[in-house]
Amino acid sequence: MQLTVKTHAQTEMIDLTAQIQKLLSEHGVQEGICMLYVPHTTAAVTINESADPSVREDILMVLNQMVPWKAAYRHAEGNSPAHVKASLMGASQLVRIENGRLALGTWQGIFFCEFDGPRTRKMDVALIAK
Ligand code: ZN
Repeated sequence: MQLTVKTHAQTEMIDLTAQIQKLLSEHGVQEGICMLYVPHTTAAVTINESADPSVREDILMVLNQMVPWKAAYRHAEGNSPAHVKASLMGASQLVRIENGRLALGTWQGIFFCEFDGPRTRKMDVALIAK
């Protein structure tokens, strides 16, 4: 399965937890593993706090400080910082499925990370039933 993700900024974290849980509920998987994979070189997926939106703002602030947009990059496309951030955050995540729910911690959410937007993106979702 694939989710379509419309991003709205150059750098952005979008909470997809509810959409992924909806897919899981529609497919009726009770126990197993949910595999998430981002098939892009300038986007990523991460799991972090979803209760306080300022946490994702702080994560993006630190990433932007660590990886400045302007530097002596060699990649001619001009989006090397987006490639670097994508590798720092990673292209995949695994979440256990328990009683038909994503077994996330109380404060955790699943975030699509855009680093070279705005664009229309994809995220692969594979549900592996036990
Ligand atoms: Zn590039």
